[in-house]
Parts: sequence; structure tokens; C-alpha cells
Amino acid sequence: MDTLPPPSAQTPGAISEGSGCHGGRETMEAAARAAGKSETMDRLAQDYPRGPHDQPQSMCPAFGSLRVGLRMRRVATILSGSACCVYGLTFTSHFYGARRTVGYVPFNSETLVTGKLFEDIRDAVHATAKPEDYDAVIVTNLCVPTASGVPLELLPKSIDGVRIIGIDVPGFGVPTHAEAKDVLSGAMLRYARLEAEAGPVARPRNLVEGERTIALVGELFPADPMGIGALLAPMGLGLAPQTPAREWRDLYAALDAVAVAAVHPFYTASIREFRAAGRPVVGSGPVGLEGTAAWMEAIAKAADVPAAMLDAAKARMLPAIKGALAASPIKARITVSGYEGSELLVARLLSEAGAEVPYVGTACPRTEWSDPDREWLEARGTHVQYRASLEQDVHAMLDAKPDLALGTTPLVQKAKELGIPALYFTNMVSARPLFGPAGAGSMAGIVAAQVGGRERFSRMVSFFDGVGTPDRAGYGFKGKPEEPQGFRDRQKKLRLAKAKAEEAVGT
Ligand code: SF4
Repeated sequence: MDTLPPPSAQTPGAISEGSGCHGGRETMEAAARAAGKSETMDRLAQDYPRGPHDQPQSMCPAFGSLRVGLRMRRVATILSGSACCVYGLTFTSHFYGARRTVGYVPFNSETLVTGKLFEDIRDAVHATAKPEDYDAVIVTNLCVPTASGVPLELLPKSIDGVRIIGIDVPGFGVPTHAEAKDVLSGAMLRYARLEAEAGPVARPRNLVEGERTIALVGELFPADPMGIGALLAPMGLGLAPQTPAREWRDLYAALDAVAVAAVHPFYTASIREFRAAGRPVVGSGPVGLEGTAAWMEAIAKAADVPAAMLDAAKARMLPAIKGALAASPIKARITVSGYEGSELLVARLLSEAGAEVPYVGTACPRTEWSDPDREWLEARGTHVQYRASLEQDVHAMLDAKPDLALGTTPLVQKAKELGIPALYFTNMVSARPLFGPAGAGSMAGIVAAQVGGRERFSRMVSFFDGVGTPDRAGYGFKGKPEEPQGFRDRQKKLRLAKAKAEEAVGT
């Protein structure tokens, strides 16, 4: 019989099934710590340091880890959390074409308080872990079960050879969905590393015996690994399977690489595992001419590639990038912001193509693996803002008055209200090749089309002037809605009285 949690581990305190994003980070975190999750919370705080905002400003972070698990072959996913969270997460995952079952263990206040929820999760894991169907089962504690201390670490480590991975991905501990991808990737790499250290493991599917490979870290546009492979081949290097992986045995092949390219720089837990396996890690990515040359040099150093081989590879690859940049110059002032983690690379590519980039903001934290890009951008006068809040991004856009703003949905909305051409980073920018010769020419067309549409934006702004703007916008009115007489004055007086009363209590 599997270990049951000590009763005290699940004392939920102020947490109930209705608690969630809006329950207050401090309250939730204090509850999690009181319920025995201090080690987890400390590790999350260390791996994913917070920024100016105390709540994620993007979607529920758990979407990141959910998506990583759902994209893997023969891996089952089970969520434990409030029904509304699970509804939102499953809706979003199917919206993005998951086409996979998401398991759910529901709870109520009673099963949460008594520890029955842990038993229900354990039963669900036993029912799911069939070796003929799955290599691994991922169980994710969302906010409320994490705050209540549901001890996934007490689940069996494997059942009939099916690995069981339990992770806590609370919104009050993991700031962005990007970093949640790392929570699961890191947990799986750790499990696979310990397996490989303990004895023989399954042979990776496309293993080429004796090939020296580089493991890429980050979810990349599908053509990008091929472009990077073309840069590596003349250096005698191949590509290991990417992290996040698509299949369990890919994890062994990734760990077996001679070096790791942290193309997306926020995979702190995953990189910890690669380093524990003795693999050197290279930051930045092959963007633009200077960026690609510097990246190839760093890879060659990490993978002990002879200087003559590196020089030959550069001589073969760099002219094509130079040509692509020269053929598609970008002449525009552009601000960049997003929460994907590739913002600095995009800013660098734009800058190398001739754009003026006064500001780049990323919701991800500063790490050593984006230092080369940060230093390069700062040397050219770009302000780099890590853990940027929406308010900072908007302020920067207003201040910089760009020809084009790349950003998140609310930023793009704000830009369009002001008649500034804008593009949604996630769908329009990170869904394009970024690296090597293909990346060098990919942005120019879309930037030119958007910048050229500026006049159309101005016409739209004047055409819609006053329509749908606060605070009397909405449907269902025959005429322009009128507010009750004296309403604003009464509200102002009430607010002043309240502020005075609070001041009096404070003294
Ligand atoms: S799991 Fe996600 S949606 Fe649910 S409360 Fe936490 S952050 Fe919010």
C-alpha cells in the first residue's frame, strides 16, 4: 500500500475549493507553507524570482506545463484543482488543438480537509498507469491543492513501469506559463537522469550511434531546429531531441548531448538537470549576423570543435545570413514586449536587420543565458526590462512612440486605440522562423506591411472616435446612456469620506 499523507499535511486553513487567483498570493502562499510545502515554495521562488507584479499577468501559468505534457507521446495528464481552473485549462488546451484526454480529480471542502483528495488522486493514478498505454503519468497540483499541501511526492514513483511525476504549479509561485513549461520539463529530465544513472534505459528512437549532438532548450517554430541543424552540421554536430521533449526516451538522448543550447533562457530547472549530467550550457541563439557568429563560436567552444572547422562553418553559413538581411532591411522604430521568453532574440534580430528598438520587455526573469543578448541590445541603446508588467510595456510604448509595437493582447489593443500599428507577439512573431538565414528575412515583410498601414489606423481612430470608450459604452441602449443627475458628485463625496475614515484609523 502506498504511503498516506500525515493528516496535518492537508490542513487547509483558510483555503477552500473557491479560492484561486483572486484569493491573494500571500494568503495562498502562507497556507501552502503551513501545509508542508515550504520546500516547494522556496524552490519555485529561487527558480522563478518574482518581478514588479505579484500575480501573473498572462494566462493561468499551469497552461504551460499542461501543454508540455499533452504534446508528449504515451504520457497521461491528470489535473487536481478547482473546477473553474480545470475548465479554463482544458478549454484552452483543446482550443490549441490538444486532441488528448485531460484527467481530472475533483474535490470539495470535505475531501480537501480530510485528505481524501490525496487518496482519490492515488486511485486515479493507479487506474491510469497502464504500461500498454503510457510511459508516464503527470499529476499537477493547481493553486488550491498546492495551498492545501496535497503531497504528490508521496505518490508511488512508478506503477508497473509507468513513471509517476507529481508537480505543483501554483499561480502564486510560478509567475508565467512559460516558466511552468520548465517546471514539468525539469521534473521529467530529473527522473530520466536518475534512471540513466541507475542503469540501461530505452534506446532513443532516432539515435545515430556515435553522433555528437547539441540539445536545444525551448519550444521553437517547427522550421527553426532544421535551420539550427544546418548551422551545426558543418561543425560535425547533430541535433539532440528538444526540451520540452515529445517522447519519454527523447529525454535520455537530450541528456546525452555534448552541450546544451538554452535558446529560450528561462528553463532554470531543466538546465540544472543538464548541468547535473555534466553538460555545458550556451546562452543566446543564432539570430542575425553577429548573433549567429557569436553563437556558433560559443557552441564550438562548448563542444570542442576545432577552430578550422568552426571557421569553415562560419564561412559557409554567414554570407547567406548577411545576404538575407541586406535583401530585407527593416526601417522602423519598434518596441517589443511579450511573455514567451524569446523577446530579446526577436529584438536583436530586428535590430540587426536595421530597425531601431528603443525598448524590449519580457515577462520572464533575467538569467545568465540571455546576458549576451541583453548586453548586445543595451550597447545599442535598447532598454531591456525583465519581468516587465503590462503597465511598463504600455508606458514604454507611449514614451517611445514607435512605428510598430509588438506585444501582448492588451498592449496591442491599447496601441490600436491610439492608432499605432501593432502585432500580437505570440501568434504573429513567435510563429515565424527566427534563426539562421530563414530568420534573417522573415520579419521584414510583416513589419513593412504593418508600418505601411499606419495611415489606415489613423483613419479608423477618427472614424470610431468616442465609440465604445468608457464609461458609457455597451449594448442595449437606444440613445446615449445618461447618468443620474449628481451621481458623480455623490460618488466623489463618498470616496473622500471613506479615505478620511481610513486615514483616521491609520493615525
Ligand atoms: S490554477 Fe490557474 S486559474 Fe486556477 S487559481 Fe491558480 S492561477 Fe488561477
